[in-house]
Amino acid sequence: MVTELVNSSELIKVDPVFGQQSFDNHEQVVFCNDKDTGLKAIIGIHNTVLGPALGGTRMWNYESEWDALNDVLRLSRGMTFKSAITGLNLGGGKAVIIGDAKTQKTPELMKRFGEFVHSLSGRYITAEDVGMTTEDMDLVREVTPYVTGISESKGGAGNPSPITAYGVFMGMKAAAKFAYGSDILEDRVIYVEGIGNVGEALVEHLSNEGAKVFISDLNRERLEYVRDKYKAVIYEGDNLYGEAMDIYAPCALGATVNDATIHQLKAKVIAGAANNQLADEQKHGTMLRERGIVYAPDFLINAGGIINVYAELENYGKHEIIRKTENIYNTTLEILNNADTNNITTHQAAFDIAQARIDARKKEN
Ligand code: NAD
Repeated sequence: MVTELVNSSELIKVDPVFGQQSFDNHEQVVFCNDKDTGLKAIIGIHNTVLGPALGGTRMWNYESEWDALNDVLRLSRGMTFKSAITGLNLGGGKAVIIGDAKTQKTPELMKRFGEFVHSLSGRYITAEDVGMTTEDMDLVREVTPYVTGISESKGGAGNPSPITAYGVFMGMKAAAKFAYGSDILEDRVIYVEGIGNVGEALVEHLSNEGAKVFISDLNRERLEYVRDKYKAVIYEGDNLYGEAMDIYAPCALGATVNDATIHQLKAKVIAGAANNQLADEQKHGTMLRERGIVYAPDFLINAGGIINVYAELENYGKHEIIRKTENIYNTTLEILNNADTNNITTHQAAFDIAQARIDARKKEN
């Protein structure tokens, strides 16, 4: 596949969408552009067999449009399997807005984005992801009902990140139980990479349990804030993957488990919030299995957020949100055991269950 246009008169044949490596029979990909607000967004709808495609919007300063497209395709596909394995009647979708959330996000841009979401008549329902807040979703709500993750004061379930972190904590405990025979995290050395909304809340759970928590982030101010609040240790090096640790918790962006990092990893467990942690699901899932590293599939253990926003559509309360999120412990343990018994990767074991649920529904329809 050629991924570059030399110049307009010399148009090289490209396969920009259907030929993308990350394209996996997505149902619909929508490009949104608005000159006045500077909005450039892509909405990916991967699969709607189980229900409307629900997934957050990420605002990120991508190096290229290819990176943005690749990200939205990978993320929306991940949402399909996340909702399926969690037992929710939702399909998989996601959106990315190209730009710097700190300097380029305006109320006008968010509302314009909301209008594009509205134009899809509910096939895609949005929520927050990296670079977004509940306040941003409140702005989107002004122009469309197809948004979740809005403020509690406006009738929503509020910021999903603390629930996501709680689910990750549950999944991490299950993985520790599988790897070490105990789910008690006290004194475990845990590296949390990325201490944004989810990472910080995870650090809180880990600190409360007495784990030895190391934190890393690109944002120095946040690092110092989280260090002071939870007595975590700032990792000052530039390559945490090779450090001695029990658990690696990726909570920044995806693809940090890759050719370059796997062979350095000393952790026996990987359990974090980031979506798409494996750069290549098949290859890197297999490498982890061969190295005896227990990987808690990201789309399984970071489902707390979608459980939280789904409550807005199904009208269930906090009690049910917590119950569903705590169940991530049992599902994770089940899947780790299943992968072990069947000699397959943990990612594959989770994926197979999710796919089977989608296939069964498709047959019914
Ligand atoms: P966030 O934007 O609040 O935080 C991300 C943090 O990662 C930021 O502090 C950023 O500075 C840091 N970061 C970025 N690149 C980094 C790098 N290379 N090294 C170290 N730190 C880096 O985002 P969030 O809502 O906390 O989400 C974190 C991850 O979890 C994302 O991958 C997101 O898709 C995933 N996730 C979030 C939710 C949710 O409820 N928010 C749900 C499911 C999955």
